[in-house]
Amino acid sequence: MAKKTKKIETPIDQRETFVSIQKNFADSDLSVPEKLKTLYALQQADTAIDKILQLRGELPVEVENLEAEIAELKAKSAHIAGQIEEYNKFIAENKFNITDCDAQMEKYKAQLENIANSREYDSLNKEIENQGLLRQIAEKHIGEAKERIFDKKNELEVIKEKISIRTDDLKAKKEELANIVESTAKDEEKLRANRDACAAKIDDRTMNAYDRIRQSFTNHLAVVSVFNGDSCGGCFNTIAPQRLIDIAANRKLIICEHCGRILVNPDFE
Ligand SMILES: [Zn+2]
Repeated sequence: MAKKTKKIETPIDQRETFVSIQKNFADSDLSVPEKLKTLYALQQADTAIDKILQLRGELPVEVENLEAEIAELKAKSAHIAGQIEEYNKFIAENKFNITDCDAQMEKYKAQLENIANSREYDSLNKEIENQGLLRQIAEKHIGEAKERIFDKKNELEVIKEKISIRTDDLKAKKEELANIVESTAKDEEKLRANRDACAAKIDDRTMNAYDRIRQSFTNHLAVVSVFNGDSCGGCFNTIAPQRLIDIAANRKLIICEHCGRILVNPDFE
């Protein structure tokens, strides 16, 4: 006679049929409408707790990532500052070489005053020419190093700007996290008490089913109300008319035939 019962795909444990859970659900001290309302309240509390945990769950990671990024930028900036220092040393060495070249040239030029023969004259001129070339090379090195320093300083400015922005971000995130932890601690406590009170009123089999459905969806919604008059608030598929009538009557446990979530009267919202 009752073989028209349609088999429903649901995350509810396959070992037990939905019909038996439905029967079990009805067979309790609490009236079915009260039990449905309690299930909905349980879901609302769990969703609110999920939200708090999610908020807290992401912020510490964000803070950690920002701290790591700032540390990396600071290391980079220290490395560039070190490079600039090296270029400055290189410039100082080359300046010293120029002074040395000048001194040598002065010396050879003085010797030119007292030469004995043309061979000595050629040799001294050759030395002077050499010192001139060395001087040019040193000047070229200084010019190049100055260009490098200019580029490195620009790089450093960009990094410093980034560090400043990230540091502000970090400060804001840290404050946000501290505020959330502080402000949600009480809310969470209340929600958990509320949740536990609801859960205590629901029978074990229904609670097991509820937990399993919750775990099978990424949004952790096991109990949803009718959306927009005729759709499942979880998967948004259209609900069959007979099912809609049953939901409105609060007479029994109804699940969505598309996603398997428990459907309740939108009046509960
Ligand atoms: Zn659905």
